[in-house]
Amino acid sequence: MVEINTENYVAEAHKAIANPVLQRALADVQDRFHKATAAAYHTLPEGPALRFKAHQIRMQAIANLDILLETLAANVRYNGGHVFFAEDGKTARDYCLAVARRHRVKLVVKGKSMVTEEIGLNQALADGWIEVAETDLGEYIIQLAGERPFHIIGPAIHKTRNEVGQLFAEKLGIPFTHDPPTLAQAARKILRAKFLQADMGISGCNLACAETGHITTVSNEGNIRLATTLPRVHVAFMGMERIAARLEDHDVLLRLLCRGATAQKLATYISYIGGPRASDQTDGPDEFHLIILDNGRRRILADPEFREILGCIRCAACLNVCPVYGQIGGHAYGFPYSGPVGAVVTPLLVGINRAQHLCLGETLCGACQEACPVDIDIPRMLLALRAKLADGDPLWKVKRANPMEKAIFQIWSGLIRNRRIYELSLRLAAVGQKCLPQRNGMLRRLPPPLHGWTRSRDIKPLAAETFIQRWKKKRRVRGIHP
Ligand code: SF4
Repeated sequence: MVEINTENYVAEAHKAIANPVLQRALADVQDRFHKATAAAYHTLPEGPALRFKAHQIRMQAIANLDILLETLAANVRYNGGHVFFAEDGKTARDYCLAVARRHRVKLVVKGKSMVTEEIGLNQALADGWIEVAETDLGEYIIQLAGERPFHIIGPAIHKTRNEVGQLFAEKLGIPFTHDPPTLAQAARKILRAKFLQADMGISGCNLACAETGHITTVSNEGNIRLATTLPRVHVAFMGMERIAARLEDHDVLLRLLCRGATAQKLATYISYIGGPRASDQTDGPDEFHLIILDNGRRRILADPEFREILGCIRCAACLNVCPVYGQIGGHAYGFPYSGPVGAVVTPLLVGINRAQHLCLGETLCGACQEACPVDIDIPRMLLALRAKLADGDPLWKVKRANPMEKAIFQIWSGLIRNRRIYELSLRLAAVGQKCLPQRNGMLRRLPPPLHGWTRSRDIKPLAAETFIQRWKKKRRVRGIHP
């Protein structure tokens, strides 16, 4: 039901690198957001150190997840809502479909939600003959294009306005234009009618509050507010980790989320939704359902090495600074979560062997952690995943990814611990490299098994004289005993 294409990472990455339009779009996005996000943290009265407090808040919530989720569920029910704990994607989809059937739903309007992407909800609803309209403009564009989000918060950033114009002309039957306001108006007109006709609204949840039983949604288009208040039924999906204990925690986290995501002080619309419409209220649905999704998160929670990734608030700041995402974009990751966060969370959700290229492809430069509003140590977890691939891990059912590589490193480690053999090998390699193809003083191709290093770059040859030889020579010249 859910399409997982993590195995195609390398091929898709090559395709993205060879696409000049995509490369321009990626450079533009990273350029715009990178500096703006860092500057936005400095506008906080508490300064960028607030990120460390946010980290603590998230980690405390993760440590007390069981109690917080029970409290949230009790408070949502007290407010008149329904709560369903879904073990996996199928149970979550089935529950949502059952609610839709009970209410004879024909049309659903949806706010952007990564969790529903993760479980393939749209396809399940379509298979149940229920029309789904994405109402975030970016999501609407990729829904028309039949694609997957390219970026966690900017799903259609890879599309040029010409491409969007052509898509709208083809799918909506409007005259071609590449004028963004005209295109936005066209989408708005169609979506307004959908909002009024829809029987059910579906949203994600940026953060739930245990103490009040509310969920929070954040948007800049106002579409989520319409999708959650106009239809008769509202179904909200949340990953089980997206919770904070107190309302005052939301103040910290939402200010950082908006800065990390779009470099804004606060998003245009922040809604606290706490159940169905009360008898003295004029707006809101008759029924409110909150689906709390596990889908592999409990397993992550149980492992102290990876628990920290549950603190992620999906702001996408790490994507905007990642040199790998900046070259290959979001589709290469083969799952809705892309960039550094995707390189950690996707292997943990779909299988470490299956998604091995994602964590092997990152550079470990550390830019993601510096940009992260909740200071998640992604590089540490990338290394932990690589260690599992190198050694295997029965708990996570990881098979050793490359036994040959392990053997090479064992030989290498033995070699560098024996000085004589090491120096002899260097001398042999210095002679041997003369037979390799060279250009402008650089080696163009290394032989197997090292050929991967020179697949897309030249490499410096070994120096004619090693550092140790030069060191000894210098000391001799100065009359110092080697
Ligand atoms: S890891 Fe940090 S920067 Fe990346 S999406 Fe999550 S919260 Fe944002």
